[in-house]
Amino acid sequence: MNKQVILKIKNLVTAFDTEEGRIRAVENVSFEVKKGQTLGIVGESGCGKSVTALSIMRLLPKPIGMIEGGKILFHDKDIVTLPAEKMHEIRGYGISMIFQEPMTALNPVHKIGKQIGEVFQLHFPDMNDKEIRKKSVEMLQKVGIPEPIQRMEEYPHKISGGMRQRVMIAMAFAGEPDILIADEPTTALDVTIQAQILKLMEALQRETGMAIIFITHALGVIAEICDDVMVMYAGTVAEKAPVEELFKNPKHPYSIGLLSSIPRLENERKVRLKTIKGMVPSLYELPKGCRFQNRCPKAMPCCEIEPPVLKSVGEDHFVSCFLY
Ligand code: SF4
Repeated sequence: MNKQVILKIKNLVTAFDTEEGRIRAVENVSFEVKKGQTLGIVGESGCGKSVTALSIMRLLPKPIGMIEGGKILFHDKDIVTLPAEKMHEIRGYGISMIFQEPMTALNPVHKIGKQIGEVFQLHFPDMNDKEIRKKSVEMLQKVGIPEPIQRMEEYPHKISGGMRQRVMIAMAFAGEPDILIADEPTTALDVTIQAQILKLMEALQRETGMAIIFITHALGVIAEICDDVMVMYAGTVAEKAPVEELFKNPKHPYSIGLLSSIPRLENERKVRLKTIKGMVPSLYELPKGCRFQNRCPKAMPCCEIEPPVLKSVGEDHFVSCFLY
């Protein structure tokens, strides 16, 4: 059965005006997200994955950041041109975001209870104070926070990083959004807490049917929780495929490099993990053709002339590389 497409990004171009001129941090990026599914966006830092997320949320730093082209269709409505107050309604209620460092989203001077309560207040204006308090405690309980009534009275800096991340997840889920964008939500946490948070997100997703966009630099995490994956490189899409397909049959030399750099159980400890040689090109000095050419073991003369475009290489499998 075909699942409902909730978000469709078409040829997104996001630019920043800097002292050295305009740079395009995201160039011609297209993808879609379906109800109840998890899309992983993976790539090294600076590849455009977080900028893509901030573009969807319309939270680009102003005035330097701007959506220069393309469409962001949320339930078929283009939100790129939506007035700020309408976009404010969509944030939290329609699309929520959680960040790597919860303190960027939590207010250090307000108690946790007040901060969750505000989300309910904003999105469910008919709720009275008593209902808001009850719902807030329930939400903290749901995300596995012990003694939620006491936690309501605490300030964010009084609890651990893992607990803060849970509070942020509670706030993101409180508005019952259709889509949750999670930008490296577990990177700063130790592995046990990381696994707990991922399980929690999966359980909440099963319960609510929301879609998740999971942004990470770690392909291992993608394998655990995502249905589809999009590999980004220097602001562009290198490859898109269902997760199993990408792991079994990667096509783009960059995806192949990323996959051989993750630890696998069958790898003996003596086997050295491969790393991808070279550096991501600066957005100020992008090469004319394929952006991966200076690191690509398969580069050909034609790769220097023009950039490759995304081509279908199988069912739901797309790659932008002249080898195909
Ligand atoms: Fe490598 Fe050329 Fe493919 Fe780019 S287009 S990934 S340089 S083979």
